[in-house]
Amino acid sequence: MENSYINLFDYPFEFDHSACNICNAKCCSGESGIVRFSKTELLEMSNFLKISTDTFLKDYCRKDGYTYILKEIYISFNNYKCIFLTDNRCNIYSVRPQQCRTFPYWKEFQNRKNLPFLKNECIGVKELLFDKIEEKISGLENS
Ligand code: SF4
Ligand code: SF4
Repeated sequence: MENSYINLFDYPFEFDHSACNICNAKCCSGESGIVRFSKTELLEMSNFLKISTDTFLKDYCRKDGYTYILKEIYISFNNYKCIFLTDNRCNIYSVRPQQCRTFPYWKEFQNRKNLPFLKNECIGVKELLFDKIEEKISGLENS
């Protein structure tokens, strides 16, 4: 597998996006999850599917309190998948919500305490050791 790790400074891990080729879309399936989207994203997804926003909300979303989230399909106990996932591919990939685009770089994963959960969820994530982070900082200071 090609090693193509991305490493952002605010995060205690690096991420190999090539892992997505072999992981079977674990971040879009498995335990029940919540995918939120903005009004702009609602419009983009509806336009992409050539349907009205009302139809999009009715067919592909469910209410979560005062807002809408993407529906999930029940597969088996504790095992769901996003309504847009088919054969481990996202049917709306080019207009998927920001939440999907930014995974695993979510704010809660800046906290090293949450890394065990993330590593279990995403095989592309590799924890960075403190000395490696310091090396990078000192490299920046000296550049
Ligand atoms: S779980 Fe991680 S490796 Fe798998 S598809 Fe999602 S981001 Fe890629
Ligand atoms: S919208 Fe696409 S990327 Fe986001 S959870 Fe659903 S299938 Fe995955």
